[in-house]
Amino acid sequence: MGTSRCRLLVGVVVGMAIAWAWVVAGSAVAGEPGKVGVPAKRPADGKKLRIVVFGAHPDDAEIRAGGTGALWAAQGHHVQLVSVTNGDIGHSQIFGPELARRRKAEAQAASKCLGTHSRVLDIHDGELEPTLANRKEITRVVREWQADIVIGHRPNDYHPDHRYVGVLMQDSAYMVTVPFFCPETPYLTSNPLFLYSEDGFQRPNPFRPDVVVAIDEVIDRKVKALVDMESQFVEGGANGPFPKTEAERARRRPQVAEGFRNRCAAVANRYRAKLIELYGEERGKQVRYAEAFEFCEYGRRPGREELNRWFPFFPK
Ligand SMILES: [Zn+2]
Repeated sequence: MGTSRCRLLVGVVVGMAIAWAWVVAGSAVAGEPGKVGVPAKRPADGKKLRIVVFGAHPDDAEIRAGGTGALWAAQGHHVQLVSVTNGDIGHSQIFGPELARRRKAEAQAASKCLGTHSRVLDIHDGELEPTLANRKEITRVVREWQADIVIGHRPNDYHPDHRYVGVLMQDSAYMVTVPFFCPETPYLTSNPLFLYSEDGFQRPNPFRPDVVVAIDEVIDRKVKALVDMESQFVEGGANGPFPKTEAERARRRPQVAEGFRNRCAAVANRYRAKLIELYGEERGKQVRYAEAFEFCEYGRRPGREELNRWFPFFPK
């Protein structure tokens, strides 16, 4: 075959490939080729912050950000605590729809106590995967809430559901602003601040406390909200031990409360230097209970002024 005929053939093949790619790309947009989404409209009280906290199970968002959520809510900001799975295997005695219903009710009661909103997605506990369908689901949740701030697990954690919440949150960072991605849900015109909630895992890198919030004034409510999630803490969750008598159940409640107080106190002590940096020497040293968060580098990166506006708890 001559060189010119060979070039012609290559040209035709490349042209057909481009045309095919164009057709496939068009049909990949939620079944509506060429449909671009519309930007989300800010609600009427647009000055109030909108926050989504993702946890893998009904209790994770409450444990890691329930206090900060209550502080935001007390100032009129809108906080939604989202459980990405329905928690339907997190108990030693019951499972399935019966447990899912119970845990949803517990999450709703916790939000009532904290002043937040509750949402539980219907994905089986222990089966969360970082799929395209779930990336779209998480993107839609962030867009529907029109979030300024999104919080979730880090992608390295002992529990696979926690890990994949972290991955899915990262995957939705930026995509929430892309008009042709999930065009049926109005897209965000600015990328939210994405934050990881605190954990103690060291590999491949330990948690870095970029924001530490004093929760002393809401610690009692946070602890009550958690102790009342009895299926998990008083009844021992997936691994038990399940209390054998009512007396044992009653004995456990103050123990669980004490455990959560100690956990929040340990966060304050571990990140004392950051508390002093954010609250000043005097107040920073006095803080007893705290929650901590790390910036995810795929979202918005706030300066100190913006940080003060979004975490309106630090002294000016
Ligand atoms: Zn969990």
